[in-house]
Order: sequence, then structure tokens, then C-alpha cells
Amino acid sequence: MPANPHALPASVHVLERGWLSANNILFLGRDETALVDSGYVTHAAQTISLIEHSLQSRQRPVQLNRLFNTHLHSDHCGGNAMLQARFGCHTSIPAGETDKVSRWDENALSFQATGQQCPRFGFDAGIEDGATLMLGDLSWQALAAPGHDPHSLIFYCAPERLLISADALWRNGFGVIFPELEGESGFPEVAATLDLIATLDVRLVIPGHGAPFTDVAAALARARTRLDYLRSDPLRNAQNAVKVILKFLLLERQAISLDSLPALMTETPLLALCNQQFFHSSAEALADWASNQLIKAGAAARSATHLLNAG
Ligand SMILES: [Zn+2]
Repeated sequence: MPANPHALPASVHVLERGWLSANNILFLGRDETALVDSGYVTHAAQTISLIEHSLQSRQRPVQLNRLFNTHLHSDHCGGNAMLQARFGCHTSIPAGETDKVSRWDENALSFQATGQQCPRFGFDAGIEDGATLMLGDLSWQALAAPGHDPHSLIFYCAPERLLISADALWRNGFGVIFPELEGESGFPEVAATLDLIATLDVRLVIPGHGAPFTDVAAALARARTRLDYLRSDPLRNAQNAVKVILKFLLLERQAISLDSLPALMTETPLLALCNQQFFHSSAEALADWASNQLIKAGAAARSATHLLNAG
């Protein structure tokens, strides 16, 4: 009988989360436990209890030894500080981000630009492109996956044909192509990252958001179609970014007063930049456009006074 393509090795546990928190991947090795990505700060207590619950099954001291981040967006590393405080875990981050994190450069890290929160954390090591990581007694290779984020990594386990794809490949698409919003290259990098993934022999993808999936070729085809659509008119990438950033703020706050929406468009640096570079609208018009888009998609609702999270 063919093996179940969704089956995970016994040492690999996917804690599937929502969109505010990225998925956490927990590795229970014989001698060492590790976690890839720590979720968003407002979910950090839940993240810790999920991990503690899984660790208790080991009948050993409840200890998380190591923490790895695929990239430093707030939904992937917002729980780092609390996990470090709870477990004292050795922490590895993408090598390209170590300077910024050492200085805690709020301008260069993405949190301030998007209006998101991330408590300050430290790190012990940088992860280079091509590095070998041992996670759950399996050998994984870290591979550079720029596009969504210039320093993002994906982790590939050749023996088990597994890929931790972060926000470089989801079942339907990929994360916002942030560099293009700031006048930097991102479309060719996304294309190259999809090409790289296509060269890997993968039976199961564990994405940053959503359930693990097996039909990698179809996901790659959808991602390439999506990339072509965005690339042919960069305004579309900015439109997607504005919707995603507003939806993220709604997920976090659940309700935002209608009166405060225009100010949000000017005070959130990346929203202001998108407006200046792509929309050329008033803050009021951009706030209306973005709200209506989310409402149309079922991702928000409007009361007399507030934009409400929905969906
Ligand atoms: Zn991301």
C-alpha cells in the first residue's frame, strides 16, 4: 500500500495556526527539541501552552532547546521574546538579519513600517543559505528564498521530501512582495524562489499559513499565475499589500473606528508609502477603498462606527 503522502515523521509536529500567527513547527528529537517560527505576540501565551502540551507527551523535562525563524515578520517571530524568557532556548535567525536585530533597528525591521508589534528579542546564531540544520533528528537544508522578504529562508528535508516553505509558497499564492513596495526588486526573486522549489523533490509542503499540502506542482502553477498578474501591473501588488496590512491590523484589534482609518493610512509608514508611490489618493479615499475591498471579500464588516473583523 502506498504511504500516506500527508504522513509526518514522528518527530515533526505542525501546530497549524491562523493568519495573525504563522504555523509553528515543533521537532521532538531524541536529545533536543526545536521550534520553527513563534507566531504573533498577542498569541504568545497560547503558543507556549501549545508547545508545553506537546512537550509533555515526551515524559521528560518540558524544555524547548532551540528556536529557528524562517524570516523576521512579526507573525513568525512575535513569540520569540516570550519563548526565550520561558525556555532560554538557543535562537537562530536568518544571517541577513543579525545586524538589524543586534541593534534592534526599528526602521530596518518590518514591524514599525506595518504598524505591527514585536517585542525585542536576542539571538545566538545566524543561519546562512545552504546551512544544514538538525531538526527532530532529521537533516534539513536552509535555502535562501527572497521575494516576499529579502532574507527569508525555507527549510528542505531531502530524506523525507518535506519543505517548510514559510511565506514563499502557500497552497494558494505567497506572501506580499514587500521589496517592490519600497522600490526594490522582488518580482524576479519570487520567480527564482518558485523555480528553486520546483527543483526540489517534495512530497509535502508545510507552509507558513494554512494546512500542509501535497500537490506541489499545482501550487507552483497557481503561484506563477499570481506572480504574472501582480508583475504585469505593480499597482496590484500595492493593492494587495494595503488589504493585507489592514486585515492584519483588524485581526489584531478586531475593530477599528471608522474615524481613525484615514489617520491609520498616513501613520502606518508602509500604507503611506503605498499611497504615495502607487495610489496617489487622499487618506480618506484609500481608507474607503481598502475597507470596501475587505468587506466585499467577506474579510470585514462595517457598523455605524467601526470596521469589524470578519471571515
Ligand atoms: Zn512573512
